[in-house]
Amino acid sequence: MLKVEGLNAGYGSVNILWDIGFTLAEGEIVAILGSNGAGKTTMVRAVTGMLKPSSGSVVFNGEDMAKKNSRVILNSGIVQVPEGRQLFTDMTVLENLQMGAFNKGTKAHFQENLKKAYGWFPKLEERAKQAAGTLSGGEQQMVAVARALIGEPKLLILDEPSLGLAPNIVDDILNVASTLAKNDGISVLLVEQDITKALAAADRGYVIENGRIALEGTSAELQANEHVKKAYLGI
Ligand code: ATP
Repeated sequence: MLKVEGLNAGYGSVNILWDIGFTLAEGEIVAILGSNGAGKTTMVRAVTGMLKPSSGSVVFNGEDMAKKNSRVILNSGIVQVPEGRQLFTDMTVLENLQMGAFNKGTKAHFQENLKKAYGWFPKLEERAKQAAGTLSGGEQQMVAVARALIGEPKLLILDEPSLGLAPNIVDDILNVASTLAKNDGISVLLVEQDITKALAAADRGYVIENGRIALEGTSAELQANEHVKKAYLGI
């Protein structure tokens, strides 16, 4: 479903990503792992069209997205939950969720998708009329995920969903992602610094170091890998 090949990208004259390649199948959860500054968010930006790669391809369902703009990419079904959530904090929860229905199709299905989102995250229904900025961090992350789901993703990108959240809330969010992958065939790209949680949820993973793919494998292979254990799991 997604095949990234030979991706090089950066900011101005500074190259950050070097020859990045990875694949993601329908209904699969793939983790992109790496420490602070490794290039994970830059990679997400290159996949979602927010940053134009200097070379390489991002083929999604047979179409190269590398030169398309973010609107076209969004309409193709690649929806991200950005790092830091980026909610409209003065707007209500419901208004934020309405922002997730960005095109004719998703606008037409909004009520139906809203009901599903409330099913995933019942707290959001209770807080529908509350300004998003007054919610707890965990609830705000739920709004960000629900907003993305209202956009009917085929590929859901979660950028650091665990950042600043209590472990049980991270588990809730990853459980929703796993169920969506299994039952609805949504593919999930899980970008994380919390390698333990990410590998527990993902089928496979890629480790990025200094803008390059340093390692790849199934979650079990990466969990057992000596370098991963030493450098990331503190074992
Ligand atoms: P984090 O978990 O901190 O978000 P990351 O793995 O997502 O880390 P990136 O945010 O992709 O890493 O950053 C990779 C490198 O690109 C870093 O050296 C960073 O300083 C640099 N960088 C990020 N954004 C910009 C920008 N807008 N302009 C210039 N350099 C940037």
